[in-house]
Amino acid sequence: MLRYLTVPVTAFQQNCSIVWCDQTMAAAVIDPGGDLPELLAEVDRLGLKLEQIWLTHAHIDHAGGTGTLARERGLPIVGPHPGDQFWIDGLAQQSRMFGFPPAEPFTPTRWLADGDRVQIGESVLAVRHCPGHTPGHVVFHSAEIGRCFVGDVLFAGSIGRTDFPGGDHDTLIASITQRLWPMGDETVFIPGHGPESSFGRERRSNPYVGGT
Ligand SMILES: [Zn+2]
Ligand SMILES: [Zn+2]
Repeated sequence: MLRYLTVPVTAFQQNCSIVWCDQTMAAAVIDPGGDLPELLAEVDRLGLKLEQIWLTHAHIDHAGGTGTLARERGLPIVGPHPGDQFWIDGLAQQSRMFGFPPAEPFTPTRWLADGDRVQIGESVLAVRHCPGHTPGHVVFHSAEIGRCFVGDVLFAGSIGRTDFPGGDHDTLIASITQRLWPMGDETVFIPGHGPESSFGRERRSNPYVGGT
């Protein structure tokens, strides 16, 4: 069964999740934006074997630590969707703009597309392409445990910003209503920032997508 631990990282308190298969203890880290020593300490404390990096999108608070972590541990980088190539190319500029330590450049080992699957140990998660916050944003859905790692697509009570280059409000709403809602009201999501919630709760009460 898939298990996970969410560790807020960077000054943006980005919810980096360590996910693992409890049969094999193989682990992936989703969105290692920074604070790598803290993340690796948790991996060691849990007795996990870190095997992959998965990215929802390439904003600095989500992807800033990727290049260093991949190089130091020899890990493959899975995701995001190729629509975020320009954000990867702009990581150095993002670092300067937001006062982050310089981000090591990287090239994803495997780009993701809608309908792809990723696997860690014996657990398989479905990939959905959810553009709008960024063009190449993806989410990772574990039907097995009823959880979805949604990055900055949706938050408890809010939605992702769409005022960055490549952002688009209508596209984001379509991603949420057409690709997240079908996962079911009971599905609990882990957003890129802030507390977890369920899709059903957001459908009822989120002022941006309530009633959809
Ligand atoms: Zn973002
Ligand atoms: Zn973010």
